[in-house]
Amino acid sequence: MDKKKKFIYIISTIYISLFTILVFYMVYFTAVKQKQISVHPQNTRLNNLEQEVIRGDIYDTNMKVLATTVNDTRKYPKGSLYAHVIGYSQRGKTGVEALANTELLYPDYNIPSLFRNAFLNEKFQGRDVVLTLDDRYQSAIAKAMKGKKGGVIVIEPATGKIRAMYGSPGFDPNNINQDWETLTKDTKNSPLVNRVTHGLYPPGSTFKIITALAYMTQDKAGGMDLTYDCQGKITGADYTIQCYNKTAHGVVGLKEAFYKSCNAYFIKLSEKISSKDLRNAAEQAGFNDTLPFDMSYAKSKFQLTEADSNFERAATYIGQGKTLVSPLHMAMIISAIANDGVMMKPYVLDYSMNKKGYVKVKYLPQYQKAAMSEVSAKRLQDMMIDVVQQGTGAKIKNKSLIIGGKTGTAQNETDKDHSWFAGFAKQKEDDKNQIAFAVIVENGGKGAEALAVTQKILDVYKNME
Ligand SMILES: [Zn+2]
Repeated sequence: MDKKKKFIYIISTIYISLFTILVFYMVYFTAVKQKQISVHPQNTRLNNLEQEVIRGDIYDTNMKVLATTVNDTRKYPKGSLYAHVIGYSQRGKTGVEALANTELLYPDYNIPSLFRNAFLNEKFQGRDVVLTLDDRYQSAIAKAMKGKKGGVIVIEPATGKIRAMYGSPGFDPNNINQDWETLTKDTKNSPLVNRVTHGLYPPGSTFKIITALAYMTQDKAGGMDLTYDCQGKITGADYTIQCYNKTAHGVVGLKEAFYKSCNAYFIKLSEKISSKDLRNAAEQAGFNDTLPFDMSYAKSKFQLTEADSNFERAATYIGQGKTLVSPLHMAMIISAIANDGVMMKPYVLDYSMNKKGYVKVKYLPQYQKAAMSEVSAKRLQDMMIDVVQQGTGAKIKNKSLIIGGKTGTAQNETDKDHSWFAGFAKQKEDDKNQIAFAVIVENGGKGAEALAVTQKILDVYKNME
Protein backbone atom coordinates (compact mmCIF):
# COMPACT_ATOMS: atom_id res chain seq x y z
CA MET A 1 0.00 0.00 0.00
CA ASP A 2 2.81 2.41 0.94
CA LYS A 3 4.49 1.66 -2.28
CA LYS A 4 1.34 2.59 -4.20
CA LYS A 5 0.99 5.92 -2.32
CA LYS A 6 4.55 6.75 -3.01
CA PHE A 7 4.00 6.05 -6.69
CA ILE A 8 0.97 8.35 -6.87
CA TYR A 9 2.89 11.02 -5.02
CA ILE A 10 5.74 10.92 -7.53
CA ILE A 11 3.39 10.97 -10.49
CA SER A 12 1.48 13.96 -9.11
CA THR A 13 4.68 15.86 -8.44
CA ILE A 14 5.84 15.30 -11.98
CA TYR A 15 2.49 16.44 -13.35
CA ILE A 16 2.38 19.55 -11.21
CA SER A 17 5.94 20.45 -12.15
CA LEU A 18 5.30 19.98 -15.85
CA PHE A 19 2.09 21.98 -15.59
CA THR A 20 3.87 24.81 -13.83
CA ILE A 21 6.58 24.91 -16.48
CA LEU A 22 3.98 24.86 -19.22
CA VAL A 23 2.03 27.76 -17.71
CA PHE A 24 5.21 29.70 -17.17
CA TYR A 25 6.28 29.08 -20.72
CA MET A 26 2.91 30.03 -22.21
CA VAL A 27 2.67 33.25 -20.25
CA TYR A 28 6.15 34.09 -21.23
CA PHE A 29 5.71 33.14 -24.84
CA THR A 30 2.71 35.47 -25.13
CA ALA A 31 4.75 38.28 -23.66
CA VAL A 32 7.47 38.02 -26.30
CA LYS A 33 5.21 37.21 -29.20
CA GLN A 34 5.15 40.85 -30.25
CA LYS A 35 8.89 40.75 -30.73
CA GLN A 36 8.58 37.71 -32.90
CA ILE A 37 6.09 39.37 -35.23
CA SER A 38 8.50 42.17 -35.88
CA VAL A 39 10.94 39.68 -37.45
CA HIS A 40 8.87 39.55 -40.61
CA PRO A 41 11.02 41.01 -43.42
CA GLN A 42 8.34 43.41 -44.62
CA ASN A 43 7.97 44.81 -41.16
CA THR A 44 9.35 48.31 -40.79
CA ARG A 45 10.06 47.53 -37.17
CA LEU A 46 13.00 45.39 -38.27
CA ASN A 47 15.37 48.14 -37.23
CA ASN A 48 13.96 48.06 -33.71
CA LEU A 49 15.04 44.46 -33.63
CA GLU A 50 18.63 45.59 -33.50
CA GLN A 51 17.88 46.70 -29.95
CA GLU A 52 16.85 43.13 -29.10
CA VAL A 53 19.19 41.00 -31.18
CA ILE A 54 22.96 40.69 -31.48
CA ARG A 55 23.68 40.82 -35.22
CA GLY A 56 25.03 37.44 -36.40
CA ASP A 57 28.48 36.83 -37.83
CA ILE A 58 29.42 36.52 -41.51
CA TYR A 59 31.87 33.84 -42.66
CA ASP A 60 33.55 32.86 -45.91
CA THR A 61 33.12 29.30 -47.19
CA ASN A 62 36.01 28.05 -45.00
CA MET A 63 34.60 29.68 -41.85
CA LYS A 64 36.95 32.66 -41.84
CA VAL A 65 35.26 35.50 -39.93
CA LEU A 66 34.42 38.42 -42.23
CA ALA A 67 32.08 40.34 -39.91
CA THR A 68 31.25 39.99 -36.23
CA THR A 69 29.69 41.93 -33.36
CA VAL A 70 31.73 42.83 -30.28
CA ASN A 71 30.03 44.81 -27.50
CA ASP A 72 27.36 46.09 -29.87
CA THR A 73 29.98 47.26 -32.37
CA ARG A 74 30.19 45.76 -35.85
CA LYS A 75 33.75 44.63 -36.66
CA TYR A 76 35.25 43.65 -40.00
CA PRO A 77 38.47 41.75 -39.26
CA LYS A 78 39.56 41.83 -42.93
CA GLY A 79 39.28 45.61 -43.19
CA SER A 80 38.78 46.81 -46.76
CA LEU A 81 39.20 43.34 -48.33
CA TYR A 82 35.44 42.68 -48.49
CA ALA A 83 34.30 46.29 -48.32
CA HIS A 84 31.92 46.21 -51.29
CA VAL A 85 30.57 42.68 -51.19
CA ILE A 86 29.97 42.51 -47.41
CA GLY A 87 29.18 46.22 -47.22
CA TYR A 88 28.44 47.88 -43.89
CA SER A 89 25.55 48.16 -41.45
CA GLN A 90 26.45 51.25 -39.48
CA ARG A 91 25.36 53.83 -42.03
CA GLY A 92 22.43 52.36 -43.84
CA LYS A 93 23.10 48.85 -45.08
CA THR A 94 24.84 47.66 -48.22
CA GLY A 95 26.14 44.40 -49.68
CA VAL A 96 25.61 41.20 -47.72
CA GLU A 97 24.78 43.25 -44.62
CA ALA A 98 21.67 44.44 -46.48
CA LEU A 99 20.95 41.20 -48.35
CA ALA A 100 21.13 38.96 -45.29
CA ASN A 101 19.76 41.49 -42.80
CA THR A 102 16.72 39.39 -41.87
CA GLU A 103 18.84 36.32 -41.19
CA LEU A 104 21.52 38.22 -39.27
CA LEU A 105 18.82 39.69 -37.03
CA TYR A 106 16.69 36.54 -36.80
CA PRO A 107 16.44 35.90 -33.02
CA ASP A 108 17.39 32.42 -31.88
CA TYR A 109 14.34 31.72 -29.68
CA ASN A 110 14.60 28.96 -27.12
CA ILE A 111 13.46 28.70 -23.51
CA PRO A 112 16.76 29.81 -21.94
CA SER A 113 17.11 32.78 -24.30
CA LEU A 114 13.49 33.81 -23.70
CA PHE A 115 14.01 33.78 -19.96
CA ARG A 116 17.34 35.57 -20.13
CA ASN A 117 15.77 38.22 -22.31
CA ALA A 118 12.86 38.68 -19.90
CA PHE A 119 14.64 38.63 -16.57
CA LEU A 120 18.21 39.68 -17.34
CA ASN A 121 17.35 41.95 -20.26
CA GLU A 122 19.87 40.07 -22.40
CA LYS A 123 19.70 40.33 -26.17
CA PHE A 124 18.80 37.40 -28.38
CA GLN A 125 21.47 36.00 -30.68
CA GLY A 126 20.95 36.48 -34.45
CA ARG A 127 21.85 33.85 -37.01
CA ASP A 128 25.28 33.53 -38.58
CA VAL A 129 25.57 33.60 -42.35
CA VAL A 130 28.08 31.57 -44.37
CA LEU A 131 28.95 32.88 -47.84
CA THR A 132 30.06 31.17 -51.06
CA LEU A 133 33.10 33.49 -51.13
CA ASP A 134 36.53 31.95 -50.68
CA ASP A 135 39.11 34.06 -48.90
CA ARG A 136 41.94 32.39 -50.82
CA TYR A 137 40.70 33.97 -54.07
CA GLN A 138 39.71 37.26 -52.50
CA SER A 139 43.11 37.76 -50.81
CA ALA A 140 45.10 36.80 -53.91
CA ILE A 141 43.06 39.16 -56.08
CA ALA A 142 43.39 42.06 -53.64
CA LYS A 143 47.15 41.60 -53.61
CA ALA A 144 47.31 41.59 -57.42
CA MET A 145 45.06 44.67 -57.62
CA LYS A 146 47.03 46.69 -55.09
CA GLY A 147 47.33 50.28 -56.28
CA LYS A 148 45.13 49.57 -59.30
CA LYS A 149 41.53 50.46 -60.05
CA GLY A 150 39.06 47.95 -61.38
CA GLY A 151 36.83 44.99 -60.62
CA VAL A 152 37.34 41.22 -60.41
CA ILE A 153 34.82 38.43 -59.97
CA VAL A 154 35.11 34.62 -59.88
CA ILE A 155 32.00 32.44 -60.37
CA GLU A 156 31.44 28.68 -60.42
CA PRO A 157 29.55 28.14 -63.71
CA ALA A 158 27.84 24.87 -62.69
CA THR A 159 26.19 26.40 -59.61
CA GLY A 160 26.43 30.19 -59.88
CA LYS A 161 28.36 30.37 -56.59
CA ILE A 162 30.39 33.58 -56.43
CA ARG A 163 33.88 32.72 -55.15
CA ALA A 164 35.31 36.23 -55.14
CA MET A 165 34.11 39.77 -55.76
CA TYR A 166 36.62 42.55 -55.40
CA GLY A 167 36.41 46.19 -56.38
CA SER A 168 39.27 48.63 -56.10
CA PRO A 169 39.73 51.12 -54.59
CA GLY A 170 37.68 50.21 -51.55
CA PHE A 171 37.32 51.55 -48.01
CA ASP A 172 37.57 50.28 -44.47
CA PRO A 173 34.03 49.50 -43.25
CA ASN A 174 35.31 49.63 -39.64
CA ASN A 175 35.71 53.39 -40.04
CA ILE A 176 32.75 54.09 -42.28
CA ASN A 177 31.32 56.76 -39.98
CA GLN A 178 34.56 58.68 -39.46
CA ASP A 179 35.54 58.43 -43.14
CA TRP A 180 32.11 59.10 -44.62
CA GLU A 181 32.73 62.72 -45.65
CA THR A 182 36.04 61.94 -47.35
CA LEU A 183 34.68 58.84 -49.09
CA THR A 184 31.62 60.53 -50.54
CA LYS A 185 33.63 63.55 -51.71
CA ASP A 186 36.18 61.44 -53.58
CA THR A 187 34.50 61.48 -56.99
CA LYS A 188 37.80 60.81 -58.74
CA ASN A 189 38.21 57.35 -57.23
CA SER A 190 34.62 56.61 -56.10
CA PRO A 191 35.77 54.14 -53.40
CA LEU A 192 32.22 53.46 -52.23
CA VAL A 193 31.22 52.12 -55.67
CA ASN A 194 31.43 48.37 -56.17
CA ARG A 195 32.99 48.32 -59.63
CA VAL A 196 32.11 44.64 -60.14
CA THR A 197 28.37 45.30 -60.00
CA HIS A 198 28.12 49.03 -60.75
CA GLY A 199 31.13 49.70 -62.96
CA LEU A 200 29.91 49.96 -66.56
CA TYR A 201 32.78 49.68 -69.03
CA PRO A 202 33.05 49.42 -72.81
CA PRO A 203 33.60 45.68 -73.40
CA GLY A 204 36.28 46.19 -76.06
CA SER A 205 37.25 42.99 -77.84
CA THR A 206 35.57 40.79 -75.20
CA PHE A 207 32.42 41.77 -77.12
CA LYS A 208 33.69 39.73 -80.09
CA ILE A 209 32.22 36.82 -78.11
CA ILE A 210 28.74 38.26 -78.72
CA THR A 211 29.48 39.11 -82.38
CA ALA A 212 30.75 35.55 -82.92
CA LEU A 213 27.65 34.24 -81.20
CA ALA A 214 25.36 36.25 -83.44
CA TYR A 215 27.17 34.83 -86.46
CA MET A 216 26.90 31.26 -85.18
CA THR A 217 23.23 31.68 -84.37
CA GLN A 218 22.63 32.60 -87.99
CA ASP A 219 24.63 29.65 -89.15
CA LYS A 220 21.96 27.05 -88.39
CA ALA A 221 23.25 24.49 -90.88
CA GLY A 222 26.82 24.85 -89.58
CA GLY A 223 29.93 25.09 -91.71
CA MET A 224 29.37 28.72 -92.66
CA ASP A 225 32.72 30.41 -92.23
CA LEU A 226 33.53 33.76 -93.74
CA THR A 227 37.19 34.11 -94.61
CA TYR A 228 38.80 37.48 -95.03
CA ASP A 229 42.25 38.74 -95.97
CA CYS A 230 43.17 41.23 -93.25
CA GLN A 231 45.59 43.96 -94.29
CA GLY A 232 45.77 45.49 -90.80
CA LYS A 233 42.87 47.88 -91.29
CA ILE A 234 39.41 48.12 -92.76
CA THR A 235 37.82 51.09 -94.46
CA GLY A 236 34.13 51.94 -94.67
CA ALA A 237 32.16 54.88 -96.03
CA ASP A 238 33.08 57.16 -93.12
CA TYR A 239 35.87 55.39 -91.26
CA THR A 240 39.12 53.48 -91.23
CA ILE A 241 39.60 51.15 -88.25
CA GLN A 242 42.90 49.42 -87.58
CA CYS A 243 43.83 46.08 -86.13
CA TYR A 244 45.96 46.25 -83.00
CA ASN A 245 49.43 47.60 -83.90
CA LYS A 246 48.21 47.73 -87.53
CA THR A 247 49.09 44.03 -87.72
CA ALA A 248 48.04 42.46 -91.04
CA HIS A 249 46.50 39.14 -89.94
CA GLY A 250 46.32 37.73 -93.48
CA VAL A 251 43.61 35.25 -94.46
CA VAL A 252 41.54 34.46 -91.36
CA GLY A 253 38.33 32.54 -90.64
CA LEU A 254 36.22 32.97 -87.50
CA LYS A 255 38.53 30.82 -85.35
CA GLU A 256 41.78 32.61 -86.29
CA ALA A 257 40.17 36.04 -86.26
CA PHE A 258 38.93 35.34 -82.73
CA TYR A 259 42.20 34.24 -81.16
CA LYS A 260 44.15 36.94 -82.98
CA SER A 261 41.42 39.45 -82.11
CA CYS A 262 41.29 40.76 -85.68
CA ASN A 263 39.17 43.93 -85.78
CA ALA A 264 38.90 43.98 -89.58
CA TYR A 265 37.33 40.50 -89.65
CA PHE A 266 34.70 41.26 -87.04
CA ILE A 267 33.79 44.51 -88.77
CA LYS A 268 33.57 42.56 -92.02
CA LEU A 269 31.04 40.31 -90.28
CA SER A 270 28.68 43.28 -90.17
CA GLU A 271 27.92 42.46 -93.81
CA LYS A 272 26.62 39.07 -92.63
CA ILE A 273 24.93 40.02 -89.37
CA SER A 274 22.33 42.79 -89.25
CA SER A 275 22.30 45.29 -86.39
CA LYS A 276 19.08 43.65 -85.26
CA ASP A 277 20.64 40.18 -85.15
CA LEU A 278 23.58 41.49 -83.15
CA ARG A 279 21.19 43.18 -80.77
CA ASN A 280 19.22 39.94 -80.39
CA ALA A 281 22.35 37.98 -79.50
CA ALA A 282 23.38 40.66 -76.99
CA GLU A 283 19.94 40.76 -75.40
CA GLN A 284 19.75 36.96 -75.25
CA ALA A 285 22.96 37.18 -73.20
CA GLY A 286 21.41 39.74 -70.83
CA PHE A 287 22.12 43.21 -72.26
CA ASN A 288 19.38 45.84 -71.80
CA ASP A 289 17.75 43.55 -69.27
CA THR A 290 17.60 42.91 -65.56
CA LEU A 291 20.10 40.32 -64.36
CA PRO A 292 19.17 37.43 -62.08
CA PHE A 293 21.04 38.79 -59.08
CA ASP A 294 19.79 39.67 -55.60
CA MET A 295 22.17 42.51 -54.79
CA SER A 296 22.06 45.92 -56.42
CA TYR A 297 23.83 46.31 -59.79
CA ALA A 298 23.84 48.49 -62.91
CA LYS A 299 22.23 47.20 -66.11
CA SER A 300 24.45 46.54 -69.13
CA LYS A 301 23.59 48.50 -72.27
CA PHE A 302 23.62 47.69 -75.95
CA GLN A 303 22.55 50.45 -78.32
CA LEU A 304 22.62 50.14 -82.09
CA THR A 305 19.96 50.97 -84.62
CA GLU A 306 19.85 51.15 -88.40
CA ALA A 307 19.96 54.94 -88.02
CA ASP A 308 23.47 54.90 -86.54
CA SER A 309 26.43 55.91 -88.72
CA ASN A 310 28.58 53.29 -90.45
CA PHE A 311 31.40 54.12 -88.08
CA GLU A 312 29.20 53.65 -85.03
CA ARG A 313 28.02 50.34 -86.42
CA ALA A 314 31.54 49.09 -87.21
CA ALA A 315 32.80 50.14 -83.79
CA THR A 316 29.94 48.30 -82.08
CA TYR A 317 30.85 44.97 -83.73
CA ILE A 318 34.25 45.12 -82.00
CA GLY A 319 32.94 46.39 -78.65
CA GLN A 320 33.95 50.03 -79.06
CA GLY A 321 30.54 51.61 -79.63
CA LYS A 322 28.11 52.77 -76.98
CA THR A 323 27.93 49.30 -75.46
CA LEU A 324 28.57 49.09 -71.71
CA VAL A 325 28.95 46.04 -69.50
CA SER A 326 29.71 45.33 -65.83
CA PRO A 327 32.32 42.75 -64.76
CA LEU A 328 29.48 40.86 -63.02
CA HIS A 329 27.54 40.52 -66.26
CA MET A 330 30.65 39.67 -68.27
CA ALA A 331 31.45 36.83 -65.84
CA MET A 332 27.85 35.59 -66.14
CA ILE A 333 28.15 35.40 -69.93
CA ILE A 334 31.45 33.49 -69.65
CA SER A 335 29.88 31.18 -67.05
CA ALA A 336 27.04 30.37 -69.44
CA ILE A 337 29.54 29.57 -72.21
CA ALA A 338 31.59 27.35 -69.88
CA ASN A 339 28.39 25.69 -68.66
CA ASP A 340 27.34 24.66 -72.21
CA GLY A 341 24.96 27.59 -72.64
CA VAL A 342 23.12 27.38 -69.32
CA MET A 343 23.18 30.52 -67.20
CA MET A 344 22.86 29.89 -63.46
CA LYS A 345 21.81 32.65 -61.08
CA PRO A 346 24.93 34.01 -59.37
CA TYR A 347 24.68 34.04 -55.57
CA VAL A 348 26.72 34.81 -52.53
CA LEU A 349 24.69 33.49 -49.55
CA ASP A 350 25.32 29.79 -48.95
CA TYR A 351 23.43 29.15 -45.69
CA SER A 352 22.50 30.57 -42.31
CA MET A 353 22.86 28.78 -38.98
CA ASN A 354 22.45 29.32 -35.25
CA LYS A 355 25.33 29.41 -32.77
CA LYS A 356 25.05 25.65 -32.23
CA GLY A 357 25.78 25.14 -35.90
CA TYR A 358 22.30 24.01 -36.94
CA VAL A 359 21.60 25.10 -40.51
CA LYS A 360 18.48 27.29 -40.68
CA VAL A 361 18.24 28.37 -44.32
CA LYS A 362 20.15 26.74 -47.17
CA TYR A 363 20.31 28.58 -50.49
CA LEU A 364 20.42 26.33 -53.54
CA PRO A 365 21.72 26.85 -57.10
CA GLN A 366 19.05 28.20 -59.44
CA TYR A 367 18.76 27.65 -63.17
CA GLN A 368 18.21 30.95 -64.95
CA LYS A 369 18.02 30.42 -68.70
CA ALA A 370 19.72 29.16 -71.83
CA ALA A 371 21.82 32.19 -72.79
CA MET A 372 22.85 30.53 -76.08
CA SER A 373 22.60 27.10 -77.73
CA GLU A 374 24.76 24.24 -76.48
CA VAL A 375 26.40 23.95 -79.91
CA SER A 376 27.38 27.64 -79.93
CA ALA A 377 28.61 27.45 -76.32
CA LYS A 378 30.88 24.49 -77.11
CA ARG A 379 32.23 26.15 -80.22
CA LEU A 380 32.97 29.30 -78.22
CA GLN A 381 34.73 27.24 -75.53
CA ASP A 382 37.11 25.88 -78.18
CA MET A 383 37.66 29.33 -79.66
CA MET A 384 38.42 30.75 -76.21
CA ILE A 385 40.86 27.92 -75.49
CA ASP A 386 42.68 28.84 -78.72
CA VAL A 387 43.07 32.41 -77.42
CA VAL A 388 45.18 31.06 -74.55
CA GLN A 389 46.86 28.28 -76.54
CA GLN A 390 48.09 30.44 -79.41
CA GLY A 391 46.46 33.87 -79.32
CA THR A 392 46.35 37.11 -77.37
CA GLY A 393 46.05 35.29 -74.01
CA ALA A 394 49.08 32.99 -74.44
CA LYS A 395 50.84 34.57 -71.46
CA ILE A 396 48.69 32.54 -69.01
CA LYS A 397 48.97 29.20 -70.81
CA ASN A 398 49.39 26.37 -68.33
CA LYS A 399 50.14 22.66 -68.80
CA SER A 400 47.98 21.42 -65.93
CA LEU A 401 44.84 23.46 -66.66
CA ILE A 402 42.43 23.91 -69.55
CA ILE A 403 42.09 27.68 -69.83
CA GLY A 404 39.96 29.70 -72.21
CA GLY A 405 39.24 33.39 -72.45
CA LYS A 406 39.14 36.62 -74.38
CA THR A 407 41.30 39.68 -74.00
CA GLY A 408 39.90 43.14 -74.45
CA THR A 409 40.98 46.74 -74.50
CA ALA A 410 38.32 49.24 -73.65
CA GLN A 411 39.17 52.57 -75.18
CA ASN A 412 39.25 55.40 -72.76
CA GLU A 413 39.25 58.82 -74.33
CA THR A 414 40.75 60.70 -71.41
CA ASP A 415 43.45 58.33 -70.19
CA LYS A 416 45.19 55.00 -70.85
CA ASP A 417 42.91 52.21 -72.08
CA HIS A 418 41.26 49.74 -69.73
CA SER A 419 42.45 46.16 -69.82
CA TRP A 420 40.01 43.19 -69.80
CA PHE A 421 40.37 39.47 -69.51
CA ALA A 422 37.31 37.25 -69.19
CA GLY A 423 37.54 33.47 -69.22
CA PHE A 424 37.24 30.08 -67.58
CA ALA A 425 39.57 27.38 -66.23
CA LYS A 426 39.11 23.70 -65.52
CA GLN A 427 41.27 20.82 -64.34
CA LYS A 428 39.88 18.41 -66.96
CA GLU A 429 37.07 18.04 -69.52
CA ASP A 430 33.58 18.07 -67.92
CA ASP A 431 34.98 19.49 -64.71
CA LYS A 432 32.04 20.39 -62.46
CA ASN A 433 34.35 22.54 -60.33
CA GLN A 434 35.51 24.77 -63.15
CA ILE A 435 35.63 28.52 -62.58
CA ALA A 436 34.77 31.53 -64.74
CA PHE A 437 36.03 35.04 -64.14
CA ALA A 438 36.06 38.59 -65.41
CA VAL A 439 38.89 41.01 -64.71
CA ILE A 440 39.11 44.66 -65.64
CA VAL A 441 42.02 46.90 -64.72
CA GLU A 442 41.35 50.57 -65.38
CA ASN A 443 44.10 52.27 -67.40
CA GLY A 444 45.75 48.86 -67.51
CA GLY A 445 46.76 49.23 -71.15
CA LYS A 446 46.59 46.45 -73.71
CA GLY A 447 45.47 43.36 -71.84
CA ALA A 448 48.68 42.67 -69.95
CA GLU A 449 47.57 43.89 -66.52
CA ALA A 450 44.30 41.95 -66.61
CA LEU A 451 46.24 38.81 -67.56
CA ALA A 452 48.60 39.33 -64.61
CA VAL A 453 45.64 39.46 -62.20
CA THR A 454 44.07 36.41 -63.89
CA GLN A 455 47.31 34.51 -63.32
CA LYS A 456 46.85 34.96 -59.55
CA ILE A 457 43.31 33.55 -59.73
CA LEU A 458 44.64 30.54 -61.67
CA ASP A 459 47.39 29.97 -59.09
CA VAL A 460 44.75 29.66 -56.36
CA TYR A 461 42.55 27.43 -58.50
CA LYS A 462 45.44 25.13 -59.44
CA ASN A 463 46.26 24.48 -55.81
CA MET A 464 42.74 23.59 -54.72
CA GLU A 465 41.86 20.07 -53.55
ZN1 LIG B 1 43.21 41.91 -88.52
